[in-house]
Amino acid sequence: MARDTMTRSDSDEHTNIIGRIRDEVLRRRRFLLTSHARPDGDSIGSQVAMAFALDALGKAVRIVNADPPPEHYQDFPGVGRIEIASQATPEVDAVIVMECSDLGRTGVAGLEDQFLINIDHHAGNTHYGALNWHDVSAAACGEMVFDLIRALGVPLTQEIATHVYLAILTDTGSFHHSNITPRTFDICRETVEAGVNPAIMARRVFDSNSFGKLKLIGALLDSMELVDEGRLAVLRIDDAMLEACGCTNNDTEGIINLPLTAREIQAVVFFKVSPNGEVRVSMRSKYDVDVRFVATQFGGGGHKNAAGFTVDGRLEDVRADILQRLIAAIEHGLQTRPQ
Ligand code: 5GP
Ligand code: MN
Repeated sequence: MARDTMTRSDSDEHTNIIGRIRDEVLRRRRFLLTSHARPDGDSIGSQVAMAFALDALGKAVRIVNADPPPEHYQDFPGVGRIEIASQATPEVDAVIVMECSDLGRTGVAGLEDQFLINIDHHAGNTHYGALNWHDVSAAACGEMVFDLIRALGVPLTQEIATHVYLAILTDTGSFHHSNITPRTFDICRETVEAGVNPAIMARRVFDSNSFGKLKLIGALLDSMELVDEGRLAVLRIDDAMLEACGCTNNDTEGIINLPLTAREIQAVVFFKVSPNGEVRVSMRSKYDVDVRFVATQFGGGGHKNAAGFTVDGRLEDVRADILQRLIAAIEHGLQTRPQ
């Protein structure tokens, strides 16, 4: 199958790949949209915005994800239509995969032989689609979806704008990460003009914790370890802690960012130990501390300030190594930190 690929924005190629995706979308009728397992605000926002745009064009659209959306996104418009399945044998004309550096990240099997349109902003995307639009300069996949929706000639409704804003608000870590550009604000301005209320969005996304989650935050911060003279924070959670606070895994979202509010802390690593022994590792950092580089050394990926991976084996065997590499990343990042 002929492949079309693009990795840089603001170029002729950028315009070209959007045009090719637009043409393929316009001439196809039935679509399946998907994104990565354990969806976040960018994956939800990108998919639902895209779904509303395809609805507006009269297309048939399904959204299939491996895991349910986090609870506080469930009352956003259109989120209820997301189907949860780990296997799909769809009768569709194209699958649009958003936010996935490789197809396996979807956690949805059975998509390999479909006409795949790959839209992603993660470094290291493997270009698995028939059409690959890969723009690492986008602060959120939602920025790319915004461009595509515009190219498709679909008006920016309040519903679409809400999901584009949700994608950007969450994937920039509420405008904390280093990948924000003037474009980010241009798009946000347009979403606000289309009816998005940033104050309400911030409250809905960040101030919707349950009491159980507040307890969990307390327990996690109480047990937080500081290493590297307080520059690295280490958090660990298991099912017993979740249960004690009446929480589920979904309630852990966002907690990783809290240690970064301490001035000295430059990076955070969060170990989530599941009962089957699997350990998910999430990392966040400030400025030029590159946690993606650390994640890639363990088979994961992400962005400079937000990355993750799954431990292959026992945490005890790699924990010291992970911390060592993070300390090295902090050291390296601090040398280039803006004053
Ligand atoms: P989180 O810590 O929120 O799970 O992920 C932070 C960022 O790293 C997200 O952009 C996410 O897509 C990426 N990421 C997390 N885990 C993995 C992984 O196992 N592989 C890859 N390629 N990216 C990951
Ligand atoms: Mn993203």
